[in-house]
Amino acid sequence: MKTIVAGSLNIDFVIPIDRFPGPGETVLGGNLSFTPGGKGANQAVAAAKLGMHTLMAGAIGNDAYGKQVRESLESSGVDTTLLVTQAATTGVALIHLTSDGENRIIVCPGANEYFEVSEQLRAQLATADALMLQLEIPIDRVAKLIDFANEHHVPVFLDPSPVHEAAVALLSKVDWVMPNEHEIEWMTGQSVQDVKTARIAIAKLLQLGAKRVVLKMGPLGAMVGDESGFQHVPGFQVNAVDTTAAGDGFGAGFVTEWVQTGDVHRALRYGNAVGALVTTKVGAQVSLPSREAVSALLQDPSPT
Ligand code: ADP
Repeated sequence: MKTIVAGSLNIDFVIPIDRFPGPGETVLGGNLSFTPGGKGANQAVAAAKLGMHTLMAGAIGNDAYGKQVRESLESSGVDTTLLVTQAATTGVALIHLTSDGENRIIVCPGANEYFEVSEQLRAQLATADALMLQLEIPIDRVAKLIDFANEHHVPVFLDPSPVHEAAVALLSKVDWVMPNEHEIEWMTGQSVQDVKTARIAIAKLLQLGAKRVVLKMGPLGAMVGDESGFQHVPGFQVNAVDTTAAGDGFGAGFVTEWVQTGDVHRALRYGNAVGALVTTKVGAQVSLPSREAVSALLQDPSPT
């Protein structure tokens, strides 16, 4: 089984601060950390750690951060054959984080803007079992990949983040769209607080053209909806400390289990287990669990 993740790779600069500076003001930050991130890279690392043969298609810069990003992928078992180095800076996310958990993020896409759909990528994609996409690379290239995958009957899983108008136009072209509560509200106008409102929001997204929706619902777990009905699987009870990359982990978990079994209920439960484990550790890629850790939670889901 082979999954291709096409998308963004960044270095996340996390700057702890007491409060955000006002215009013209300078504040001192705490200890700066820089770790590999980017939705595409997070999904690829998550899928590889779960044992899936995963190729990351994306672009890094010809700088020290690019090297760090590549090493992080390779040490997690991601196949970097489709990773291209461009004459640009590696993508950077500047994350300002206050102690009460509020953040403000500025992303400089850098090399991610230069992502291209190469012949090599097409050749690999033609024989893949799944394609995972997000919206942090140029939208015309996302659309191109979707069309190519459709021609070759490769199932496409789209995480519509960061959500924008163009995401709605892609809904009818992908097999699975995997929003969180904020993204589905943005696209449908329907807020999600519980299972009932989740069904209404999913039904609206189906009306907008989506074929199958997997809604990520934080501690409430996740719900799948399509024209045949809805399935909700509650989340695992864990001691959540940081939800960064929970959605990326969930997505990789769902796809990994679905590709192997074709069973939606199992895929939801598996994705929930991965997402829940991610929340128990601080950070993005460092918090993504191994296959063994997921199996342990599935066997003994008593609260931690
Ligand atoms: P995103 O990170 O995209 O905003 P969510 O916050 O909904 O997505 O998290 C993705 C998945 O991770 C959820 O569907 C759920 O399975 C799991 N998850 C997230 N937060 C928690 C939590 N506090 N407790 C248990 N599981 C969680």
